[in-house]
Amino acid sequence: MPTIKIKGISKAFEDSIAIEDISFTLHDGELLALLGPSGSGKTTILRLIAGLIEPDAGTILFDNEDVSAIPTEERNIGFVFQSYALFPHLTVAENIAFGLQTRKWSKEETLERVMELLTIVGLIGKGNRYPRELSGGEKSRVALARALAPNPTLLLLDEPLSALDMSLKDNLREAIREIQQKVKVSTIYVTHDQVEAMEVSDKIIILDHGKIIEEGTPEDLYLTPNKIFTAEFLGITNTISGVLRMKNKEVQLVTSFGNISLPISKSDSDECSIAIFPEHILVSREKTNAENEFAGEITKISFGGAKTELHVRLKNQTLKINITSSRGKNKYKKDEKIFVIIPHSAIIILEK
Ligand code: ATP
Repeated sequence: MPTIKIKGISKAFEDSIAIEDISFTLHDGELLALLGPSGSGKTTILRLIAGLIEPDAGTILFDNEDVSAIPTEERNIGFVFQSYALFPHLTVAENIAFGLQTRKWSKEETLERVMELLTIVGLIGKGNRYPRELSGGEKSRVALARALAPNPTLLLLDEPLSALDMSLKDNLREAIREIQQKVKVSTIYVTHDQVEAMEVSDKIIILDHGKIIEEGTPEDLYLTPNKIFTAEFLGITNTISGVLRMKNKEVQLVTSFGNISLPISKSDSDECSIAIFPEHILVSREKTNAENEFAGEITKISFGGAKTELHVRLKNQTLKINITSSRGKNKYKKDEKIFVIIPHSAIIILEK
């Protein structure tokens, strides 16, 4: 399997820039997620790599070979589209065999490969069905099998789970990861769902308005994001910017609701942005005199199953706080006055 290198690619449609100066490397067997909001350029990057459109600038290298002159069908890429695009008049087995027949595999080799794929994706016994006789989850498995059948160099998945309901999504996300690791195919997975990206990938690239905001492993990006956009997009919903001041050898961020002591001993800058993890903020009915304790009022309570989200207003700033849902009566009430404690471990210092 080759290493895929993307060097400075840009693409504009008519007057609008879809992506600008994108560079990244996909190592052998890695699963890379392209994560970003709608219109951030994810699909455009996939289409450029597949050769469906041409870049205005930059190069795409498969094992150091520039593929710009190589047509799509010779790039040996497996593609799973959002809609799956299965051939309705072909059975599951025929759909999976399609790419093998165009590559002139023999009948025996094709049959063997189709059986192998049906086993890998868990569809043994369903080879003779037509797409209309399949559930959404089964259709996505057929699309995956069809893409994997010719042993592609690279697998491109464009929002492969977006048409499925929650429980099926979980199930298939795990299946995709397992299958990808089993066949060790380098994969690019496009999604706008941060949980999906974090659960499925080795590495995530976060995109916004056609540019790379940040890249890293799911753990690195979630636990130590550098950019406000990354923190907010990955669900660390509390970001605050302000000026810094020193007090008693402590660096503090000046905010509208009070000064937050930060987990750093010095700063080269006068200003700073921080992210505060919603699940690491503590709440208390009584004042505890802990460091970084602020008085607030609950303005909203959203029950979300295992966790409950509280919106707590501190002067003119609202913090979102996740607490474990308790059985029986809800512990807190809307409009209740409480204290919020922001421990150092809940704070991430972001890049300016
Ligand atoms: P989504 O998650 O909604 O699919 P995306 O992140 O995949 O979005 P792209 O489809 O890559 O985003 O689109 C990036 C930008 O390029 C958008 O502003 C889009 O309108 C524009 N764009 C994409 N394809 C074309 C096209 N064929 N013609 C004109 N503009 C296009």
